[in-house]
Amino acid sequence: MNSIPRTALDCQAISEAFLALHERDGFARLPPSSLLHDSVPMSFVMSAGLIQVENDLDEIVAETGGKFAFTQPCFRHFDMQQVGADPTRLSLFHMSAAFHIGSTERETVLPRLWYFLTEVLGLEKERLWITYLDDAEFGRDEASYQCWKTLGIAEERLVGLGQEHCFWRQRSTGQIASDGKKCGPHTEVFYERDVACPACKNREQPLGNCRCGRFVEISNSLFIENYIDDNGKLIAAGTVFAECVLGLERTEMVLRGLPSVYHVRRFDQWREQICMGISCPDLSQQQALNITLDHLSAFVKLTKDGAPAPGQGGRKYIMRKLAREAMNQLLQCKLDVLSLMNALMEDQDQKSLALLQEEYVRFNRHVQLVNKNTRYVSHDYR
Ligand SMILES: [Zn+2]
Repeated sequence: MNSIPRTALDCQAISEAFLALHERDGFARLPPSSLLHDSVPMSFVMSAGLIQVENDLDEIVAETGGKFAFTQPCFRHFDMQQVGADPTRLSLFHMSAAFHIGSTERETVLPRLWYFLTEVLGLEKERLWITYLDDAEFGRDEASYQCWKTLGIAEERLVGLGQEHCFWRQRSTGQIASDGKKCGPHTEVFYERDVACPACKNREQPLGNCRCGRFVEISNSLFIENYIDDNGKLIAAGTVFAECVLGLERTEMVLRGLPSVYHVRRFDQWREQICMGISCPDLSQQQALNITLDHLSAFVKLTKDGAPAPGQGGRKYIMRKLAREAMNQLLQCKLDVLSLMNALMEDQDQKSLALLQEEYVRFNRHVQLVNKNTRYVSHDYR
């Protein structure tokens, strides 16, 4: 496979390259799922996991031989407050994922990933760092460690971390996993950017724990070999699997040398339109802009997938928070919210615009109430 010019590598191109490579290796390409899924009735799909295919897993395994890949939009409402706090955090983001049901062979997953990152995408090997499980209780993930060594990763770039960093446990049993919670070691790939941060430079903390954005986690490979019972005892899983995921916005950011994930191509048009109203954005305005881009894009995508109008409780409340936080940020920048919404939504579906206009009327009432009575300042939109 030829490598692609780095400047051309936006999320869409990276996703296409990831899926094409996996198709070459016998993986079936599946479509993404809606962000509205029965298994998360109060919220939305949060990651590119098995949840999207779990209900039809037997059928899909029969059709694909257990090897399939897809690119999934993910939305994490609990990350909304973190948006803008560092260069890498979005509430709505995209992940490409490849699953191999019935195998946890590192010898196929990790070399393919390494080839993809360094040959297909052309990421510099000397900027990549790897973490793997090395834990007092669960031991060392020897298979991953040896595989990375064989691929030529220098010892000092292979970072062993405990279970709090490199051991995944399913949080709930979900709909169909009646046999316990899945768990297993994972191994992550970080990209090192040119960010002056003494704490990170001197490796005073685990990779990726710092907000500076020097080390950016771009990929994670998970090997499910066990279930864990309520007492923390591991039970060998009947069906093992490997999952390899890639964060698309973060990968585009490091490939194109962008300052943050808020500068990826999918935001370009909106960024330009909002910036027209701000002559020279200062730091707090840039922050406001980043939050607005994230929240509005999430609002539009969720609306397209059938999310309810902003309101009270559950999904409605999440929609309200997205809309009002974005509006609040635009107001802080002294921008005309309504005309800006009109301009931004011109190329989007008109349902989002109508919902935002209605919500703005209610939001305005709320803001006026706040202004009238300064004792009452609240960001609680319920
Ligand atoms: Zn740092």
